Amino acid sequence: MTAVDPAQEDKPKEYGCQYGDRAFRYHLCYLPGHKKASIKVYVHPNSQVQVDAPEGAGLPAIKAAVQCRARWILKHLDDIEVRTRYVHPRQWVSGESMLYLGRRYVLKVIPDPEKPRVTCKLIGGQLRVQGEKVSPERIQKAVRQWYRDQAEDVFQRRLDLMTERLPWTKTAPPWRIVEMQTQWGSCSPEGAVLLNPHLAKAPTRAIDYVLLHELCHLEEHNHSSRFYGLLDRFMPEWRAIKEHLDGQAEVVLSDRKPD
Ligand SMILES: [Zn+2]
Repeated sequence: MTAVDPAQEDKPKEYGCQYGDRAFRYHLCYLPGHKKASIKVYVHPNSQVQVDAPEGAGLPAIKAAVQCRARWILKHLDDIEVRTRYVHPRQWVSGESMLYLGRRYVLKVIPDPEKPRVTCKLIGGQLRVQGEKVSPERIQKAVRQWYRDQAEDVFQRRLDLMTERLPWTKTAPPWRIVEMQTQWGSCSPEGAVLLNPHLAKAPTRAIDYVLLHELCHLEEHNHSSRFYGLLDRFMPEWRAIKEHLDGQAEVVLSDRKPD
C-alpha cells in the first residue's frame, strides 16, 4: 500500500475520536501555506466539529491534539444539544414567530385566489404572506426570498456606513449573499466577501460585528493578534455581541422557530 500524504488531498476527511465511553466525528482540513500554524478545533452551531491543521502536519499529532481537546469539544456538543432541544421545526402557519433585525414578527398567511404569485411583506408587526395555493413550501420560498431581499439592502447600507469609518477601506468590497450552514460570513484571500442572508434575522449590532470581522480580514487575512486588535479598536464590545449571536445560531441560521 502506498502511503498518502494527507496534505495532497484536498477534500476534508472525517475521523473519529473516543473519549471515555463517548465518541464524536470530526472533519480534518489542511491549511495550505500555513506550515507554522497551530492545530485549531471549531465546533460549529450545527454540531459539526472541524479541525484545521497546518500543511504537512502528521495524522498522529493531529489525533493527539484532538484527543487533548475532547472534553472541551464534548462540552460544546452538549451545550448545542441542550439549546436545540427547545427549538422546533416550523410548520409555516399563521401565528409563528419570525425574527428580523433582532425583533419578532408574527407570520400571517392569507390565502388569496386573485394572486397567483405568493408575496411576502412586512406590515406593522406582521410578516404577511399572501397568494393563491399557500402551501408550506411556497410560503417558505417567499419568506426566504424576502429575507434575501432585506439582507441585500441592509448589508449594503451597513457596509457603506462601516467602510467610511475604517482607514483601510473607503468603499464597500465586492460582496455576495450565500446561504451557509455554519458561517455568518467569510472573506477570500482576494478580498471577496460572502454574507449569510440568515444574518438579517440578527440585531443590527450583530450584523455590524460580522461585517467588521470580514472587513478587518481585508487588512489582516488571518486571526492573528493584529486582527483582533483591529476588532477591539473599532468595536470594543465585539466579544459580547459575538457570544450572543453564536448563542442564537441554531435559530438564526436555520428556519427553526425562536421558541
Ligand atoms: Zn475570520
